[in-house]
Amino acid sequence: MTEPALAPTDDLDEAVEVLAGHRLTVLTGAGISTDSGIPDYRGPGSPPRTPMTYQQFVGDLAFRRHYWARNHVGWAHVHRAAPNAGHRALVDLEARGVVLGVITQNVDLLHEDAGSRNVIDLHGRYDRVVCLSCGTVVPRAALARRLDALNPGFVESVGAVADIEIAPDADAVIETTAHFVIADCEACGGILKPDIVYFGENVPKERVQRAYAMVDDAGALLVVGSSLTVMSGLRFVRHAARSGTPVVIVNRGATRGDPLATVKVEVGTSEALTTLARELPTPV
Ligand SMILES: [Zn+2]
Repeated sequence: MTEPALAPTDDLDEAVEVLAGHRLTVLTGAGISTDSGIPDYRGPGSPPRTPMTYQQFVGDLAFRRHYWARNHVGWAHVHRAAPNAGHRALVDLEARGVVLGVITQNVDLLHEDAGSRNVIDLHGRYDRVVCLSCGTVVPRAALARRLDALNPGFVESVGAVADIEIAPDADAVIETTAHFVIADCEACGGILKPDIVYFGENVPKERVQRAYAMVDDAGALLVVGSSLTVMSGLRFVRHAARSGTPVVIVNRGATRGDPLATVKVEVGTSEALTTLARELPTPV
C-alpha cells in the first residue's frame, strides 16, 4: 500500500495545520461509534465477518428469518446507545461554523441524537423499515411491537443483550432462529427490510449527489473512524483529492484512502475530535 503524503502520525498538530481556516465536511464510519458501545467489525483486531448481502435477504426466506431474529435482538441495543465525546465535538464544530455537515456511513443516528443538524445518513437509518413492494415506511419501534407479539418470550430466551455481540447494523450474533416468525408489510404483504443499504445494494443516487455537493462546498474533507473499505465512502475521498481539496484521515489502522490523504492520524476518534474542536478556529 502506498504511504500517505505525510507519514502516519499520532500527533494532531499536522491535522490542525491543514484544517485550520477551512470549512469542513466530515465523513464518519463505525470507528466513531465504538466509544458508544457499538463495535466496529472492520476495526483492527476484529473477527472476520461476512456481511449479509441484499440478494441473500431478498432471495431466501430462511436467511430473512435468521436476519430478523438477530436484528430484533440487536436493534434495541443500538436504540439505547448514547452519543459520545466525538459526536458532541462535531456538534460544537458545526455550531461554530467550522463543520458544514456530516456524511455518515453509520445507521445508528448518534450524530442526530447528539444534535448535529446537517447529516447525510449515507447507508440509511436503523430506526426505519421499508416495504420492498409498495414502499411504505414504518418505524422500527412499531415493527418491534409486532415481532414481540409474534414471538412471545424470544428476546428473553436469547439472554441478556449485553452478552451478545452486536454489529453496527443492529445485527446480533445468536444461534436459534429457526422458529422465529417474521412480519410482512401490513399494507400489501410485501417483504419488509430495514431502511439500510446492504452489501450488493447501491446508495440512492439523490443521496450520493447531495454528499458530493457537501464535499464540493467544503475547503477540506475530514474522515473519522472509517477504513474506507467500501467504495460508497472511498469515492468521496477520491473526489476531494481529484479537486485538490485537502483530506485528513483519523483512523486507527490503515485505510484505503491513505494514499490520498494529506495527513493520516492514528488516534482514537473521541480524543481526535475533542482536540480538533478545541484547536480549530472559526473560519473567517
Ligand atoms: Zn407493502
